[in-house]
Amino acid sequence: MAHSNEKIIYVDMDHVLCDYKDGFSRQKALFPDLEFPQSQPGMYIGMNPLPGAIETYQWLNDHPNTRVYILTAPSVHNSHSYSEKRDWVEKHLGMSVVRNLIITPHKNLNKGHYLIDDMPSGKGQDRFEGSLILFGSEQFPDWESVRTFFEISLRPSSDSEMSDTWDSLINSEDKVTEDFGQNQEDHDWLNMKPVGREKLD
Ligand SMILES: [Mg+2]
Repeated sequence: MAHSNEKIIYVDMDHVLCDYKDGFSRQKALFPDLEFPQSQPGMYIGMNPLPGAIETYQWLNDHPNTRVYILTAPSVHNSHSYSEKRDWVEKHLGMSVVRNLIITPHKNLNKGHYLIDDMPSGKGQDRFEGSLILFGSEQFPDWESVRTFFEISLRPSSDSEMSDTWDSLINSEDKVTEDFGQNQEDHDWLNMKPVGREKLD
């Protein structure tokens, strides 16, 4: 059974681990007359990793307080997408990560704490029970910002209130602002939180 500090983290592939935009451009150059050049073999296996993606995935994967999985939707009309996504993971992250590869168009059915994805909806992201780390957003423009977030939120015990703070901000109804959406009510709540924690522990 998972210990209480362990966080289950899901990571999307297209536009998150993989540079889909660049891959599509190269595929379009190879098949200029096709409306859907991504349908041809070579698209998914040929994509380059986005900067920092592999290093940060491995750092998260090696962290003692995480269980990390790849959670990616297939292109259901394109059978190559299934096999090439699997092969991409083996090529760039190794067989141990292939064992943690989940290909599904229903991301909400997987239980966990965090989903790192560039889309807020469409494949069940909006119904995922945990927190959505919206890759490419103002808060999380790149892998460096994602790593910074997890360096804070994965700190054990004494810093758990900071983790809760991040969670509350991510799940807040308020949209992102330069001060991460904190309003006076949040500040009041933050000031109270550590006291409550001490009593509960
Ligand atoms: Mg994506």
